Amino acid sequence: MDNCIFCKIANGEIPSATIFENEDCRVILDIAPAAKGHAILLVKKHCPNIFEMDAETAGRIFSVVPKVAAAIKEATGCDGMNILQNNGPAAGQTVFHLHIHFIPRFDNDKVAVGWKPGAYEEGEAAALAEKIAALVK
Ligand code: 5GP
Ligand code: ZN
Repeated sequence: MDNCIFCKIANGEIPSATIFENEDCRVILDIAPAAKGHAILLVKKHCPNIFEMDAETAGRIFSVVPKVAAAIKEATGCDGMNILQNNGPAAGQTVFHLHIHFIPRFDNDKVAVGWKPGAYEEGEAAALAEKIAALVK
């Protein structure tokens, strides 16, 4: 897509610190990392978010995740890793081209990825699960 920076990076028009590439995606180091080794997997074919992605592409893309995660873990010596993927401004997405974050985590680091645990009223979880289940296509 024109004027999409991640399209240009994913397809090699703009140079990047690439750690993995195949026909579907390119994995690069994030320019403003939460921790050193923070990487992002960019799809090569423009797709704005997970709601627009087909299952077959998702399967191919996500099959790359374990080996990239293992390599980042080995290279950085991290104790853990957050793998996350933001969809929409409400979820913190700032670049509207689908990408997956790999964030190396170290014991007692100051990286913040979290939420305040909520709760359901009696019967609410079952009703919501049923509603969502009926909509899975
Ligand atoms: P989002 O908030 O959309 O999930 O994440 C966007 C990420 O892309 C951010 O972590 C940001 O630092 C990274 N980013 C934005 N522009 C560039 C760029 O030009 N090069 C690289 N390597 N990362 C970028
Ligand atoms: Zn794009």
